[in-house]
Amino acid sequence: MLCPPAILQTPKKITTSQNDNEIKGIQVAIIKDVCEFLDSFAPTRLAEEWDNVGLLVGDPAGTAHQVMTCLTVTPESAAEAIAQGADLIISHHPLPFRPLKRLTTDSTASRLLWNLIRAGVSIYSPHTGFDSAKEGINQSLCERLEMQKIVPLIPIQDDPQGLGAGRIGKLDSPQSLEKFLKCVKSSFGLPGIQIVGQLDHQVDKIAVACGSGGSFLDKARRAQCDTFVTGEATFHTCLEAEANQISLVLLGHYTSERFAVEALANRLASEFSEANVWASDKESDPLSWV
Ligand SMILES: [Zn+2]
Repeated sequence: MLCPPAILQTPKKITTSQNDNEIKGIQVAIIKDVCEFLDSFAPTRLAEEWDNVGLLVGDPAGTAHQVMTCLTVTPESAAEAIAQGADLIISHHPLPFRPLKRLTTDSTASRLLWNLIRAGVSIYSPHTGFDSAKEGINQSLCERLEMQKIVPLIPIQDDPQGLGAGRIGKLDSPQSLEKFLKCVKSSFGLPGIQIVGQLDHQVDKIAVACGSGGSFLDKARRAQCDTFVTGEATFHTCLEAEANQISLVLLGHYTSERFAVEALANRLASEFSEANVWASDKESDPLSWV
């Protein structure tokens, strides 16, 4: 909601020009401040050209008492946000992503937007800006895989902080793909994992790209990586990996990114102690193992 019930009873003009965003002695988080904080560590300038990032729905001057992070705005996560009285959803995947010509209930995206806007819920998406950030999803993935000497797979030209898309790095010491997969499955709690490659192949130099990172395979090959870890890839990308003898490890799109929105909720909660921040409890991986 744009205004919490307590504020509705005693309406006051809320502006970010108030030094400490204080209303009747109570600290109030403002959406604009949350956006600026997000941009400080997941800069929208790092986002891919095709992406749609930043505050996509809402009023920057609105209050952010109840903030929910999620991987994707789905019927389940949107219903949760509305039921919990969220003012702001921080969704890794953008909504809207593609341009919309109408906001009716006829398509899933516009129906979700219609419902959220009517409930006063704003939406911010960091997406590929967060993927590529210094402490972003790809960096966190590499750290979870216990990689060393981590650098961007595609560095941004002339970036003073050495940032870029994807990551490459090495294991402490080379190990078999079989042993590596055992660690990956246990680290992410996976009952199974899709791979391309031979279990006795050595894993040493690894490329990482969260989500649908198949388009980075050629960069991984040029960087002489023996293994490429991503969320999902097409059949033809799998064939290409096989033809180039690169082991391909598919974590699942959801698994490769969802952990990061949970960490993001913790980070926001410690920065904005006056707000209630949580990671969506209702969204889940649409794919399952049977
Ligand atoms: Zn994704």
